[in-house]
Amino acid sequence: MTKHNDKSADTSAAESSPGAAEPSVFTQTQTSQVDESGVTAVYIHVPFCLHRCGYCDFTLVANQDDLIPDYLAALKNELESTAADHAFHGPQSMDTIFIGGGTPTHLSPSHLTELFSLLQRYFHLTDGGEFSVEANPDGLDDDRIRVLKDFGVNRLSLGVQSFDDDCLRLLERRHSAAEAIETIQRCSDEFDNLSADLIYAVPGQSLRSWTTTLKSAISLPLSHISTYGLTYEQGTPFYRRANSGELRRQTDETERQQYLTGIGLLKGAGFEHYEVSNFAKNGFRCRHNQTYWQGRSYFAAGPGAARYLNGRRSTNCRSVARWIRSWSDNSPCIQESEDLNAEEKAREFMMLALRMIDGLNIEAFERRFGVSVRTLAGEAIQRHIAGGLLEYHGKNLRLTAEGLLLADSVVVDFL
Ligand code: SF4
Repeated sequence: MTKHNDKSADTSAAESSPGAAEPSVFTQTQTSQVDESGVTAVYIHVPFCLHRCGYCDFTLVANQDDLIPDYLAALKNELESTAADHAFHGPQSMDTIFIGGGTPTHLSPSHLTELFSLLQRYFHLTDGGEFSVEANPDGLDDDRIRVLKDFGVNRLSLGVQSFDDDCLRLLERRHSAAEAIETIQRCSDEFDNLSADLIYAVPGQSLRSWTTTLKSAISLPLSHISTYGLTYEQGTPFYRRANSGELRRQTDETERQQYLTGIGLLKGAGFEHYEVSNFAKNGFRCRHNQTYWQGRSYFAAGPGAARYLNGRRSTNCRSVARWIRSWSDNSPCIQESEDLNAEEKAREFMMLALRMIDGLNIEAFERRFGVSVRTLAGEAIQRHIAGGLLEYHGKNLRLTAEGLLLADSVVVDFL
């Protein structure tokens, strides 16, 4: 599954007492100001799933729940170190908090309570802030929902993927279409802001099946939908099965048709297409992901999590066991770290902005970086305009309808 830049990880008390949690301290006002670098977003990676789906290459372990207490202890050490490094004086005000995985809601209610209690020592959601948690339809019971509500979560991102049971089986998902529908309806009693991920270009998936999935999604109380073409990442069982011929990849033409069908149906149903893979009802764009796309700084913690602070991008090691061992000894576990110079920052900004449907605002870019877009990328711009993949629209440079279909290969030319 392609998840473009929308996760900051390489690539998501007793069990009977979740209601005992304090009412959302994330919305209390007792906190220090936003830190001096103006960081207002944090990503926490929870690397546990019931099982690993055959196409997934995210940082996670399946069937190793015995590691959860050690993970929580290691996370505490990483957050304590973050607080010391950035001179936190009390919980920091965050405009967005995103708990991704893995499947964060695979944690039991008591472990979720422990996780949120830990986070509230370091972070505090601003009034009107966005607090997202990724979840799967299977296992998202009322006890877990109660914990999420008690701690101020106000947005759920559900890994639905399809409303066709054949596709769900092929993708090795553990829920049925009926269970996904029931979960969305149940969650909508508690959350106004519900998002669903959907996958197209699944082997054997017809245009009719994809259309039915889209129409089901549209008929449900969802405020945000992400559509991703299935990808075959090296090292996954799907990669091996596709190469051996056991799985038949969809043709480029089918993938293109399915992507365009998604755009047409979702826009027709009142969703704004605001990023290559993302659609939102009015006022429901994912604010956290926009932090990434707008080149702003963010904290991150957990195995495989990537952060961007003071111009340095660094990624934690992807091995869950190694990250736990390292932080158990209070040693950072960094896989890679890079200080971006002024030009690299500007180039990365262009690349991310072009993934947005509005594109790159040229005047704002030049004010921010003090260099013209043409100076940095004149040749790439000319070539892609000539090829019909980019266009000027008012003060913005943006992908054309054709360019959207080839977004990855266009934006990479700006790096
Ligand atoms: S549930 Fe999501 S994160 Fe977990 S293995 Fe499947 S695709 Fe990966």
